[in-house]
Amino acid sequence: MKHANIAFFVPHLGCPHRCSFCDQRRISGAEEPPDPRQVEQQCREALAGLQGREAEIAFFGGSFTAIPRGQMTALLAAAFPFVRDGLCLGIRLSTRPDALDEEICRILKAYGVTTVELGVQSMDDGILAQNGRGHDSASVRRGVALLRRYGFSVGLQIMPGLYGDTRETIWSTARQTAQLTPDFVRIYPTVVIEGTKLAELYRRGLYRPLGLEEAVALCAELLCFFEEERQIPVIRLGLHPSETLEKDLVAGPYHPAFRELAEGRIFFQGMQRQLQKAGVPPGRVEFAVNPREISKAAGQRRSNLQKLEKQGWQVRLTPKEGLPPRTVRLIDRQSNRQHGEEETGPCI
Ligand code: SF4
Repeated sequence: MKHANIAFFVPHLGCPHRCSFCDQRRISGAEEPPDPRQVEQQCREALAGLQGREAEIAFFGGSFTAIPRGQMTALLAAAFPFVRDGLCLGIRLSTRPDALDEEICRILKAYGVTTVELGVQSMDDGILAQNGRGHDSASVRRGVALLRRYGFSVGLQIMPGLYGDTRETIWSTARQTAQLTPDFVRIYPTVVIEGTKLAELYRRGLYRPLGLEEAVALCAELLCFFEEERQIPVIRLGLHPSETLEKDLVAGPYHPAFRELAEGRIFFQGMQRQLQKAGVPPGRVEFAVNPREISKAAGQRRSNLQKLEKQGWQVRLTPKEGLPPRTVRLIDRQSNRQHGEEETGPCI
């Protein structure tokens, strides 16, 4: 069954931190938090239009449990009746790893919260400090353990490419994040937004964000690592496209279809690797692909097929029901056999 989020953005007005990537003025200026009546009304309206789809109520914004306690409980109290009456599956929210304790967990549990996402960003204490996060990696471990004790589903968000990040720190963060066995992760490659510390550092030549190609290649590897190797779903890769983001973007690897680019890259590498491994000479070649993944395999605007053509192979993609996700199968019609392993997923 299709799933929908009834989402509310709850900015942390007056937040005492200054994370390098966050523009406090924009948050506190343009975005007003919803009030409980709006939550109730929007939930009612959204549920009426869902036509049988399952829904969760989501409080996003990053610091939900750090906002004033009365405001937090008022918002939860407005959402809770929809969960209690079985109209919604539950409530999900995102918060800082250090904004959790036993009392907060008890409150969340009592109000029907089912999923808590933590903004981890990095598991390297030096990177966390350099980016003004105001918490360390130990607080992430503590936060996850606490949430598990209370039976919440746990999501972790990471931001590769922060100020000071290297390939080593990014991979160390990915491995440590996976070790915490979250139910899912979100990966947001760091971008530079107007009004942030990163924008200052960028303009002074002290910070270089990941390039788009670089970030796509890295995130393709991270996607394979989490989903294929560790069986942890990546439910978001790349920032949500929005007019505000595009207006305020100074630099960095933003693309409205970032995940599509990363998945396309995985297919490109899979096809190229199979052709090279099987020693297929230049010419016409054919790959079987799951019908739902033909466009991913072809790449954005058929870029994968064009790149392979430049290397001498004219690739034809044939839909084949039943192939597992991210799998391409090289077909040799002449010898009526398949090269190499029968089904070699691109993520190897
Ligand atoms: S991202 Fe950092 S600075 Fe921005 S609201 Fe959250 S904790 Fe505060």
